[in-house]
Amino acid sequence: MSGHNISESHVLCHSGQLFLQPVWDRLRSREAFTQSPFFPVIFSITTYVGCCLPFAILDVLCPWVPALRGYKIQPDFSPTARQLLPCLGQTLYQHLVFVFPATLLHWASGPALLPPDAPELLQLVTHVVLCLLLFDAEFFVWHVLHHKVPWLYRTFHKMHHKNSPSFALATQYMSSWELFSLGFFDMVNITLLQCHPLTVMVFHVVNIWLSVEDHSGYEFPWSTHKLVPFGWYGGVAHHDLHHSQFNCNFAPYFTHWDRLLGTLQPAHAK
Ligand SMILES: [Zn+2]
Ligand SMILES: [Zn+2]
Repeated sequence: MSGHNISESHVLCHSGQLFLQPVWDRLRSREAFTQSPFFPVIFSITTYVGCCLPFAILDVLCPWVPALRGYKIQPDFSPTARQLLPCLGQTLYQHLVFVFPATLLHWASGPALLPPDAPELLQLVTHVVLCLLLFDAEFFVWHVLHHKVPWLYRTFHKMHHKNSPSFALATQYMSSWELFSLGFFDMVNITLLQCHPLTVMVFHVVNIWLSVEDHSGYEFPWSTHKLVPFGWYGGVAHHDLHHSQFNCNFAPYFTHWDRLLGTLQPAHAK
């Protein structure tokens, strides 16, 4: 019986790796690029702009395609070029002035050895979900503190609230301290769970997508909060309320912390 279980789990693990191994081998074959200090900055900016692009296109199309307005939380709002450009400028500035020097320092401390084996699929998914749950908890505490202490709000978090209603490119419109804090939480969680480098990349893409979706102002039938059952995930409907009401929905993704501390403001079903 136990022999059967062992061989079954071995096949399962192996099939998980089989699926990811070609992806990992391809990335490892481009080691000169992926290990260069430029890669994290290029990866981060392209992922972010790539996630924002579909929503930016929808914003442009909105005045011409009235049906799209039905999916907007605030149907009468469209970001102007005067709002979009400073956001894009801030993202580029922060990556150039903070993210690049940080990765340069990390790179100078010695090359990271890439393991030859890809992670198992189940382990990758578990680690990504755990990283999201940990990040959600850490940012919840940070966020409550930066709203409850007026000096912290004024100095570090007010900038992120400048754009209300929110839009995709406003996601990373934040102070350098806020960006540093988010990056620090990510690093701690990845190190704590000893995530595989491929898992780290997948987590960054998922995290960036979810944060952009949170700020997009669009609610689709396939939005993450509609796909996760039991109202566990607040997503764009909840974060949009945070941006307009300030005193509720402090967790970026899940609802359990706000529910537990009485700061959950349910969004009206769309
Ligand atoms: Zn806030
Ligand atoms: Zn926000």
